[in-house]
Parts: sequence; structure tokens; C-alpha cells
Amino acid sequence: MNISADHAARKWPSDWHATGGLLPVLVILASAVVLTCAASLEARANVPLPRPRPADAPSAVEPEGGAAGQAMPSQEPAGAKAPEPSACRKALTEDIAIAPSIPAIKGPGGCGGEDLVRLEAIVVSPTQRVALKPAAILRCTMAAAVADWIRTDMVPLAAKLGTTISELDNFDSFECRGRNRVRGAKLSEHGLANALDIRGVTFANGGKLSLTDRTESRDIREKVLASVCTRFTTVLGPGSDWYHEDHIHLDLAQRRGNYKLCQWGVYDPLPAIAPLMPAERPEEAPPRPTAEEKAASGKPSEAAPEAASEDDDGKPAAPAKPRGKLSRRSGAQ
Ligand SMILES: [Zn+2]
Repeated sequence: MNISADHAARKWPSDWHATGGLLPVLVILASAVVLTCAASLEARANVPLPRPRPADAPSAVEPEGGAAGQAMPSQEPAGAKAPEPSACRKALTEDIAIAPSIPAIKGPGGCGGEDLVRLEAIVVSPTQRVALKPAAILRCTMAAAVADWIRTDMVPLAAKLGTTISELDNFDSFECRGRNRVRGAKLSEHGLANALDIRGVTFANGGKLSLTDRTESRDIREKVLASVCTRFTTVLGPGSDWYHEDHIHLDLAQRRGNYKLCQWGVYDPLPAIAPLMPAERPEEAPPRPTAEEKAASGKPSEAAPEAASEDDDGKPAAPAKPRGKLSRRSGAQ
């Protein structure tokens, strides 16, 4: 810009005498215009701002399925109205759960989802709640399924035990990751906010029910198993794979043919001491013939089946064809 302005200034003295008194005024005005335009050009060069949208321009919102919608499906025009609450959102009232809505999550690799809530507590009655510890990020439909499970099945089960449930342990809810945290694995339902991992519940009387604890009542664990496998499309626990030995995975994955996966082995307690040796033969037991006595009596010990390698008391039976030291001791050549 300064080049143009200087050029105008340098021309000024040579024109002054030839054009009289009006010309200087015009030149001043022209210089001002040149300076203004040059300043404007420089500003545009440094900050490339878009031109303002004309007032009579058509609407920027393409019709649904239009070219712009296909190119940027995740983009919403600024200031767009909030979407209409889903049927789930309308049904999941504060009489059922404390579950405020949170913004949709659009993470990498397809992670995230819409219609999300932060499930903080399940309302059992005006005076009783089951708190999620910590609060779980879930799709509304999954949160509603968890709330219905606790209210309809778990609270009556606790009542039979003479108590109420105060907390539900949240081991994991939304997390953008592959299955079983394996890098490169298919996106977990946790990545879609469609899964909840739990370890157990806490009762109002201070007791706990650990669902994967072998020493807990088998009857109660089997009742919980039947309940969750009816309500959720995926249930994984001990025995499914070694990723689920310490918690129960619940989700609402949709599969072809509404196929459900229920893999949770309810196991008995392990013996306190492994039975390494067979029990002693009781003294009152009738005497057993030795191999030598059997051989002497002429019974065909060779007829003993190979599979009967152990007697009822667990002691090794005489081999069908004694060899080595035993053959010499028994005298069977
Ligand atoms: Zn899980």
C-alpha cells in the first residue's frame, strides 16, 4: 500500500501548477481512497475471513438425505434445536432413575452414541435408592434396562434376604476401547455406551453380594444369573473366558435372530485342601487278596480291563501283566 501512496505523493508537485486550486483537493481525496483500499487489501491478505452471508440467501440446512447431509452426517448447524427426547428418555423419569441426559459422544473409530445418560441412582421408592458407584455413562435404553432389572428382580431378591440394596457396583460403563481391551479388536459394546460391568451389590445392612465369589450362596447367584440372562442379550462371567473371572458383563448388543449369549458359570467353592492322597482304608474293611494270593488261587488276573486302573478306594490295582519288580515278587513269569 505504501508504494501506491508514495507514488501518488511523488506525482503531486508536478501536477500542482498545471491544474490550479481544485486539483489538490481531488488529489487528496484520491490518495485517501487509495490508502483505504490498500489497507483493506492488506487486512484481507492477513485474515481470510469469509464474506458475510447475504440476507436473502437460501437456508443452509439441506433436506434430510441431501448432499450436505451425506458429506457431514455428524455435523449439526450451529444453534440447531435440541432433538426431540426419545421414547426411552421420556419414560426414564425421576420416579425410576436419577439419570440426567448428557451430550452425544462422537469418538474415534465409531465410539460413542446418542441419547446418553449419566445413571447416578435407581429409584426404588420415594425413600429408597440404589446408587451406582460410580455413576455410569450409558445409552438411555441400557440405563433403563439396568433400572428395571434392579427394581423388578434384585430388590425383591434382597427383600427375601431381609434387607434392601443400597449400591450397585459399577466396574465399567462407557469406554472407547476394543473387546476385552485388546488393541485392534472389534469395538466393545462399552465403546457404544451399551454395556455395564458389575461385581456385586451392597446391602443396606452393610453386607455385600459378590457375584463371582464361589463362597456366596449358590442359590442366590443362580437366581441373579437367570434374571440377567433373561433381560440382557449378552451376559459374560466366570467360565466364559479369562477376562470375566472377577465381574459380570451385561450388554444389549443386537444380533441376527435376536441371539442371546449367556455364559456365566456359577461354581461351587474350591476345597480348602486339595485331596492329594486317597483316604486311608478303614480297619474294619474286609481283607483284600494280594496279587500273590490272586495268582496262587489261579484267578486269571490278565482278564482285568485296562481301563480299571484304579480300585474303588483309589489305590492302583494289580496290573494285568505284571512286569519288573512286581512280576518277580509275584512269581508270574
Ligand atoms: Zn464388559
